[in-house]
Amino acid sequence: MMVNKYLIIMVILLYSQLSHALPSIPSSSGMNSHLISAIEYVQLPQDSDKDINNIEQYFESHSVNHASNSLLSLGISHQITWVKLSLHNPTKDTLTRYLTAGKTWIDSLDVYSIQDHLPHHQHAGDYEFASHHLVPGVGFVFPVTIPPGNSHIFIRAQSLDPMTLPIDLQNTGDARGYHALVHITSGWVYGVLMALIGFNLVLYFTVKQSYTLYYCCYIACFIIVNLSYNGFGFAWFYPHSLYIQNYCTLVFMVLHGVSGLIFIASFLSIKRNMPFIYKFVAVYCTAGVITMSILIVQKAHIMATHIAFNYLTLATLLMIAIAGLSIGKVKDAQYFLVAVLCSMLGLLVTTLSVRGNLPYNYFTFNSAVFGVVLEAIILAIIVSIRLKAIDKERITAQYLSAYDPLTNIFNRRSFFNVGQKIIKNATKNKTPLCFVMMDIDHFKNINDIHGHYVGDQALTHIACLLKKNIRVTDILARWGGEEIAILLPKTNLEQALACTEHLRATIEDTPLIVNGEEVVITASFGIAVAHHNEPLDELFKRADKQLYKAKNQGRNRIGCE
Ligand code: GH3
Ligand code: MG
Ligand code: MG
Repeated sequence: MMVNKYLIIMVILLYSQLSHALPSIPSSSGMNSHLISAIEYVQLPQDSDKDINNIEQYFESHSVNHASNSLLSLGISHQITWVKLSLHNPTKDTLTRYLTAGKTWIDSLDVYSIQDHLPHHQHAGDYEFASHHLVPGVGFVFPVTIPPGNSHIFIRAQSLDPMTLPIDLQNTGDARGYHALVHITSGWVYGVLMALIGFNLVLYFTVKQSYTLYYCCYIACFIIVNLSYNGFGFAWFYPHSLYIQNYCTLVFMVLHGVSGLIFIASFLSIKRNMPFIYKFVAVYCTAGVITMSILIVQKAHIMATHIAFNYLTLATLLMIAIAGLSIGKVKDAQYFLVAVLCSMLGLLVTTLSVRGNLPYNYFTFNSAVFGVVLEAIILAIIVSIRLKAIDKERITAQYLSAYDPLTNIFNRRSFFNVGQKIIKNATKNKTPLCFVMMDIDHFKNINDIHGHYVGDQALTHIACLLKKNIRVTDILARWGGEEIAILLPKTNLEQALACTEHLRATIEDTPLIVNGEEVVITASFGIAVAHHNEPLDELFKRADKQLYKAKNQGRNRIGCE
């Protein structure tokens, strides 16, 4: 079964909490194979002298635990777990079955099928390197033969990691189907998560928002933990390294928590909004990394296991608390909370299925993993919505810095930027270029008589008229006040005069309507023909001189050299 190691411990921790909180409902549907008539188990100290020769006697003479569920989740301990499977084969034939007897992180796993009072022994476990019994995503699987009538199988398991024994007995067809289901689902889960990493990496390199990179680390750590826990890592990547197998999951559990906290701290800007919590998160992350490093160097496996599981549980609760506290302070924090709660909800379903409160099957048992996938998808959506908003702000800022907000035409700065290039091109291509300066006549009177608001309207009105009556290649900009500059590329003086006269007449003939009343507006113009490579401000000065001339000559006219 594909279950994440950290989720399992959270299941165990939550399970122990829920055991007190929820009423115990014994599961009658727990036995997943009709051949298994009972599952009993006992946990013995490490120095116990029990072996297969005397354990049968022990089970008969001592009080042992009766499992109501075929998933034994026994927590972290040094103890040796012995499980007795009582089997009943109602047929007359000896049956061949596949026994799934433990998750991939069990250090040492022995299966004894008792036939004619003789044990048939098979051995697997992390301490033996990756063996052929290891089926990634499923666990340790042993072929067993079950004689007609009653028989027993004993399982001895030992681990410094959580003792999780999902006992399952399947025929060849069911086992193949189940393994295929596990692998297909794993493919989907890893595929979706890898796609999310790729998507966010591209975002990081394009928009350079650091939280997209932290998000990638968060998901990558989850994938590594998952691959490691499920045995894919041990089977495929490091089959000869017990050291990596023992510590990979634990290290990446801590890094998963650390990267998750860094991601949420960065995304929800907690440094600015909640400086005290930010300091706590910084200390917590540093402490996690240092503690884990020391434990790995010291090879303190059991301690590392306890620390890693509790560390990640606390990190997740911290993430929920931060998201909750950020609601109302930071945009999108509520969606963040929903995302984190998804993984917690998945975990709850897993816990309840383990407890027997919900049907125990592949999907309920793996809800925790699906919850994390859902969380990752929601987080990716929130990240992209945030980036879209940032992009919109950037475009708005660009627009505001380039355009005049009243008239929606270029401002003087943009006019200079574009104008310099046009002069350069005209010089290079030896094409004529004219600069036209326009100033509204007696504009002060419009303000004085009709008010400033109508003055604004008059400005917008004139800008609109000019925009409509010039070519797309001509450049129009508000120079300042009620002065507008126009640059006419590939235009000689004669053409510029004709164009300007058309503009002047249009303005005069198109009065502004104010409260049903016509307000006739006129404007004066000055034209200058550009010299080769002439600086734009020199060109402006000459056009302005002509405009001054037009004003002096009585307004509503054009001055030119
Ligand atoms: P002239 O015919 O000689 O150009 O006279 P004028 O009144 O148009 O020129 P003057 O320079 O004396 O006055 C220009 C006025 O334009 C003064 C200023 O208050 C007004 N003005 C400048 N910018 C704006 C604006 O954005 N909105 C409005 N409503 N008025 C503006
Ligand atoms: Mg004026
Ligand atoms: Mg003026």
